[in-house]
Amino acid sequence: MDNYQKIIESIYADVKNIEDSGKVANYIPELGNVSPDNFGINITTIDKKSFSIGDFDKKFSIQSISKILTLTMAYKLQGETLWERVDVEPSGNPFNSLLQLEADLGKPRNPFINAGAIVVCDVLMSHLKNPKEDFLMFCKEISNNPHLKYNNKVAQSEKITGFRNIALCNFIKSFGNIKNNIDQVLDFYFYTCSLEMSCQELSQIFLFLADDHFTTQKGDRVLSMSQAKRINAILLTCGFYDESGEFAFRVGLPGKSGVGGGIVAIHPDEYCITVWSPKLNKKGNSYKAMLFLEQFTTQTASSIF
Ligand code: GLU
Repeated sequence: MDNYQKIIESIYADVKNIEDSGKVANYIPELGNVSPDNFGINITTIDKKSFSIGDFDKKFSIQSISKILTLTMAYKLQGETLWERVDVEPSGNPFNSLLQLEADLGKPRNPFINAGAIVVCDVLMSHLKNPKEDFLMFCKEISNNPHLKYNNKVAQSEKITGFRNIALCNFIKSFGNIKNNIDQVLDFYFYTCSLEMSCQELSQIFLFLADDHFTTQKGDRVLSMSQAKRINAILLTCGFYDESGEFAFRVGLPGKSGVGGGIVAIHPDEYCITVWSPKLNKKGNSYKAMLFLEQFTTQTASSIF
């Protein structure tokens, strides 16, 4: 579509000044230092056309959006047996909930809640020599972007306040579903969440989920078509904590949010879109990013339904 730029400019102007009663996440103290007024959008199509507005090239903490990247790498390395460790069902519970784990005997409902992502990090640790370095290298390769970095301050800030994640990891270990050292698994998990990217970088890194024929600079596929389809399916049903149904209902695309205020959404065979606005609604999803995406898929008639 040629008028993406016009459409994003007009929705940006509409949504920018809407009253937002949401709050910037500050349970990780370092995240609380971000200006609530940031607002950026980028859409990148599978033929690599890019349209942007606002703070689209400022880097921010991608937080849970990194769960797609850890899952992708773990799925590549572990194959189908990954699903013996983590399920693919929506949780209907908050991202950091301990509730279902007891009944489910330590098998997290899906890879996009914290419990699931911690198990995915554990799987990765069993495969990688230097998990933090190797994972970062993987992200650089699939995005052809040498500028990706962790934010040490954010990772350390989460480490000293990550009581729930520490509890989750211990609880899962008690069921035998964490194989490595707890402190090392958590350290790796916190670093993956601290990755920083701009809207534009995020849209680019996830093109492999939008484009069936995507290959890296070296000519390698990231995932098979069937694996990419499966990740998109889990994104649609589980990408927005206990608001995944609401996101499918209003926006109608697979996607993932993070408590840094970013949302990435994927239109298979067409584009990736990323919206960033740090104030979160009560369920932990960016209020304005959801609103923007709802308008965008409505005006472009480009939801998957
Ligand atoms: N690092 C965050 C946490 O574990 C990620 C949460 C999120 O973005 O959903 O609490």
